[in-house]
Amino acid sequence: MSSLQVLLVAGTHGNEINAPWLFDQWDQNPGMIDTYNLKICRVIGNPLAYQKRERYVDRDLNRSFSHELLSSLDRNDHEIFRARNLIKEYGPQGFNPSKIVIDFHSTTASMGSSLVVYGRRPVDLALASLVQNRLGLPIYLHECEPSQKGFLVESWPCGFVVEIGPVPQGVLHTQIIDQILLVLGSCLKEISKCKNGSAAFPSQIIVHRHLKNIDFPRDLQGKPIALIHPSLQGKDWYPIKNDYPLFRKLNGENITFSNDSMESEVYPVFINEAAYVEKNIAMAITAKQVLSFQEDWKNDLFNLFSQ
Ligand SMILES: [Zn+2]
Repeated sequence: MSSLQVLLVAGTHGNEINAPWLFDQWDQNPGMIDTYNLKICRVIGNPLAYQKRERYVDRDLNRSFSHELLSSLDRNDHEIFRARNLIKEYGPQGFNPSKIVIDFHSTTASMGSSLVVYGRRPVDLALASLVQNRLGLPIYLHECEPSQKGFLVESWPCGFVVEIGPVPQGVLHTQIIDQILLVLGSCLKEISKCKNGSAAFPSQIIVHRHLKNIDFPRDLQGKPIALIHPSLQGKDWYPIKNDYPLFRKLNGENITFSNDSMESEVYPVFINEAAYVEKNIAMAITAKQVLSFQEDWKNDLFNLFSQ
């Protein structure tokens, strides 16, 4: 087995400050977290944005890893430089190479702890299934959204995002730190079990597959004319059906869900997420799906350790 290195990233968004704070504490007390003898590398994704306590400087770092942006040498955005440097330093062919990346984020939505996987890479599904089996976390499967691409973890052979919430941007919170520690510890333990051959994979994985984003209803000037409906606010991961009230105007008029999917019920997530205001996303709509575990997922994951 190789000495595979795991890259842990915090502060990809500079106003999500709990994971970077924990990394700083960890630097000062190197023995405080059990790493199960794994080779670990920790990095702040966007140090300048973190210093400013802003989500980003020029553009969203976690949308800056598309091949198109990385190869466009005429672009001077801070985050595109940073994306190139992170790959040069820590990418699979970097100076300090890592094969697995775990990118820690926080959300203002009432989503609790969840994993986000991008596309359906077998290695990601295999590793996520182990963590879900251990902690019962929901997995948001982000795919088929052409307007959203260039995610950090896609530049490594294996990886996912850990989202912890709810917490306001720029606020340290004990429960959030406890949740990061719990998920981080479980990820490292499961990776170490893969390394020593003792990982016990579940027979299935439950994902919430991204269907679409929904924006606030707006007037002709683009201003929101309704708020998240009180019966939906804070109800991330709860099922809704056609005609469920999504928004309410000040006059009490409801704007309801028009279900144009093939699903009888769907699951809104990232409801009223502060970071998505600029993206004109009031919520994302997902469909719950059970995927049978495939043997080749496991083989692909084990291959990472043998290369
Ligand atoms: Zn984030």
